[in-house]
Amino acid sequence: MPKIERFGIIGGDKRQLETGISIQKDGYNVNICGFENANFIVNNLKQDTLYNVINNSDGIILPLPITRDGKTINAPFSSNEISLNNEFFDLIKNKKVFCGMAETLFKYNLQYNNNNIYDYFAREEFAVENAVPTAEGAIEIAMREYNGTINGSKCLITGYGRIGKVLAHLLKGLGAVVTVSARKKEDEAWITLQGYKFAKTSSLPEEHFDIIFNTIPSIVFDARTLAKTAINSILIDLASAPYGVDYNSAERLGINTIKALSLPGKVAPKTAGEIIKNTIYNIIEEET
Ligand code: NAP
Repeated sequence: MPKIERFGIIGGDKRQLETGISIQKDGYNVNICGFENANFIVNNLKQDTLYNVINNSDGIILPLPITRDGKTINAPFSSNEISLNNEFFDLIKNKKVFCGMAETLFKYNLQYNNNNIYDYFAREEFAVENAVPTAEGAIEIAMREYNGTINGSKCLITGYGRIGKVLAHLLKGLGAVVTVSARKKEDEAWITLQGYKFAKTSSLPEEHFDIIFNTIPSIVFDARTLAKTAINSILIDLASAPYGVDYNSAERLGINTIKALSLPGKVAPKTAGEIIKNTIYNIIEEET
């Protein structure tokens, strides 16, 4: 990949703006498009037309997800639609393009040359680093919803993947009594070694937890498990679709359940933007 000195950011939310601000601080030239309604400081980022932004850039950064409707770029701060049409794909065809969730282009059968498109969201280091703002956002919600302190509270985390690991570490640091569930023996070994209590995901304990954090994208909390494990708990569901909770049953049982999605962009857009930047730099370094 040739050296990229000029970046264009097209659409996205605060995270993409923070990505641009951070790249600009590294000395690169950054132009943006699709942020006319961002009524907060966009630093010295130069806003320009779509054509100029693409023309004046070697690397194009597109949002996460790149599209929500399959027709236009996801640009919540713009009232002008940026169409994902042949003209757009023609304009970017000789550029290096970085986007989040490229599979949404496939989903909508959008035709593009995938040789020059790199998906930062698909990278492992992105998911690992993103686990930190996600876990902090989950703890912020827990602090707001729970009428006690996290210190001394009984917390259950279901799932010991990236988010489960970071969350367990942070909660333990705050003095919570942490139980973690998993299904693999190796996870059980690590959970125990780290000083957490272990539970099997398939048979969660029948005991009271003050706060439960679900990270498993599969209905772990069906009606029976909700009744057995989550009555009188605050249940924070962090998992993406199909989520981890039978929401109808949770409502019927009167359980305070919070579906907490897209936390990095909401609670820490600066960090989330820097994570995008670092991942793009890693891709460029590997490809050069
Ligand atoms: P991950 O590293 O893949 O961890 C997922 C965990 O769930 C693993 O422990 C996995 O166990 C377990 N699991 C998956 N399917 C299961 C099943 N059917 N039964 C039992 N256990 C199961 O994922 P992550 O990065 O921690 O992310 C967790 C979820 O949060 C994902 O849905 C992700 O999209 C979402 N997410 C949410 C936010 C937010 O802001 N709320 C931000 C980023 C990501 P095994 O290892 O045994 O498979």
